[in-house]
Amino acid sequence: MPLPRKSMLQNWLFLLLAFVLGGSSCPTGVPNQQSNPQSQAEPPIQFSLPLASDNMQHYFFDQDDGENGSCRAYNGSTACTGFESAYDNHRGTDFSAQTGTRVFAAAAGKIFKKVDGVDDGDMTTDEGNYIVIDHGQGFRTFYLHLQKGTLVNTSEGLPVTCGEDLGAVGLSGKTMGSHLHFGAHFGANEGVEKGTPFDPYDGFPYWKEHNQSDIRTTFWASMDAQGRPLRTCGDTPSECAACGFPCARVPFPRPIQLSGLSICTLCEIYDNGCP
Ligand SMILES: [Zn+2]
Repeated sequence: MPLPRKSMLQNWLFLLLAFVLGGSSCPTGVPNQQSNPQSQAEPPIQFSLPLASDNMQHYFFDQDDGENGSCRAYNGSTACTGFESAYDNHRGTDFSAQTGTRVFAAAAGKIFKKVDGVDDGDMTTDEGNYIVIDHGQGFRTFYLHLQKGTLVNTSEGLPVTCGEDLGAVGLSGKTMGSHLHFGAHFGANEGVEKGTPFDPYDGFPYWKEHNQSDIRTTFWASMDAQGRPLRTCGDTPSECAACGFPCARVPFPRPIQLSGLSICTLCEIYDNGCP
């Protein structure tokens, strides 16, 4: 379980203070560790983009639970159709990608399940060919609709590293266009394969549900200025490297939500206490 954290009010006050003091200039030197002593608490998990790049369209996670005819995507869209919206009861994120695009593990873990042998266009099952990775602490990620015969030659139970090649995007299972369905789930265990799906773009519902105070607003390790996740397995994001901060973890909030804060300021806030 994650360690106790500062209250949300404390964190927002800290953010406000950082904004007032830090402005948009990059601080220099090693951040003052004492200013944020509890930031060493590890987030339970962070995700790297499970594709080489994210330059096409999405269907987002529907935060409006259940099949009730209404939809709510993390970006504020309430449309139930069209790209960049959630469709009703969609419990993952769809990344449009051409068939054959390589799919990578979003975080380290072990192969929990692997299903192969389903042809493209075979809609007998929802998932088609897919891989499930168990990350520990109840977290699992799902990679659906993979192309037959491309799945990594690794057996169930064996470890995978963050960013490891898992297979290729395909058209297996119930899908109308080639894409990767990426599912993030919490509360899985030996008897519960899926647990509770959550939106990797939006940390708040997850933290509220689990009574944790945290200012994180996303589970992606890093995002670009357009709010698209990046591949950042163990890499120090260039923005933070430029500011002189050594920590590789930069779960900064969506730029839209905190547009007044520079990336450097956010790096300082989150990187305090990192080795
Ligand atoms: Zn999907």
